[in-house]
Amino acid sequence: MMQNKKLGLISLGCDKNRVDSERILAVASKHFTITSSVTDAQIIVVNTCAFLESARKEAIDTIFEINELKQTGKLEKIIVCGCLPQKFIQEIFEEFVEVDAFLGINDYDLLFEAVKLCYEGKRVNFVNKNEFLLEKNRVLTTPCHYYYLKIADGCNNKCTYCLIPSIRGKYRSQKIEDLISEVKNLGQVNELILVAQDVTRYGIDLYGEPQIVKLIKELSALDEVNSIRILYAYPDMITNELIEEIKNNDKVLKYLDIPLQHASNPILKLMNRKGSFESYLALVNKLKSEIPQIALRSTFIAGFPRETEEDFNNLLEFVKKAKFFNCGFFAYSREEGTPAYKLAGQIEEKVKEERVKKLYNVQRQISRKNLKSFVGKTIKVLCDGVDYENQSFYGRAYFNAPEIDGRVYITSNDCINQGEYYEVLITNSNDYDLFGTVVG
Ligand code: SF4
Repeated sequence: MMQNKKLGLISLGCDKNRVDSERILAVASKHFTITSSVTDAQIIVVNTCAFLESARKEAIDTIFEINELKQTGKLEKIIVCGCLPQKFIQEIFEEFVEVDAFLGINDYDLLFEAVKLCYEGKRVNFVNKNEFLLEKNRVLTTPCHYYYLKIADGCNNKCTYCLIPSIRGKYRSQKIEDLISEVKNLGQVNELILVAQDVTRYGIDLYGEPQIVKLIKELSALDEVNSIRILYAYPDMITNELIEEIKNNDKVLKYLDIPLQHASNPILKLMNRKGSFESYLALVNKLKSEIPQIALRSTFIAGFPRETEEDFNNLLEFVKKAKFFNCGFFAYSREEGTPAYKLAGQIEEKVKEERVKKLYNVQRQISRKNLKSFVGKTIKVLCDGVDYENQSFYGRAYFNAPEIDGRVYITSNDCINQGEYYEVLITNSNDYDLFGTVVG
């Protein structure tokens, strides 16, 4: 009977959460009929993010929005999973009576049991009922030519602004053999994207020392894997061995995401980040000299408590000097329960926003100039699909990660296929995107 119930899922937050959502779908598909239409669903699972105030607001707004479908549509049960209940179940269980069941980050295996209880008229709190998640399978939600591989969960770093360790717990790597069999099960992939809160610490908890290079070697030895992209590398753990591997392994894309968060030394200290303006710049320069074509991405927080004009100018200076291919900038979000919450010298919202804007203005010029240098060149592009609004195909070069970086918009006289590589002659560029024509 439950098999006939249609279940839909809304995944919020980052790509690591997306992997969790794909496991939830694997659990759900054993018991329910999966639908991609929320208006058609009788059960909706919302997998939430709670890292920032804005993410919690998005989760709560989503719950209220879908609750309307209980009155007007077919929706019967709302299940809320993931970081929000994991961290805030005490606060939300009584408040959000619209929600029929809550599950934490390790409790997805219990989805069917939770839904059954809901249909018996109960409200369910299964947060922390399980110690770890047993489900190993995933139902992919990305186009089938790329997918994420979450190599670890949790974080042992203690950045003073960050709630993640208190939500996701200590750093826990997946065993190499489990990751290999996960990729074999998921099958052929053009781009395998390695993610974790910090990929560079991979393996320390299991094997006593970092094993990210060993993991990359083993993954790239698989016939199923065409290329590997590395996201979320913590700067102080980018070893010479890792740099050599990125440089010499043909399957590893010459791309590295290193979230640096700031570059002014007093602020890095207050953030409890290891490293300094000088060491970060040295790292960026080293990566560029070892791997000349490398595309570096980073993220930064503006308006951290006590950030003076001088600190901010240091950060601006750093961004100008480092010349990243891609960058994300965020206004500091004051999160209760973090050490930075209590710091005196919080910065006004307006000032934070202005600083973010200034950073984007600098980066926009860097990006525009950089992308212009590709005009007239032919580059390899992986086609991601059709952009109906722009009446164009679009794809990515090695320097574009999906969803967070720019795109290459492609025209072609012939039909081209999603998931295939094309040689594209770049004819135009703007601040963040390239435009070109298939030539081969
Ligand atoms: S490295 Fe720092 S910012 Fe990133 S998840 Fe860990 S504690 Fe949070």
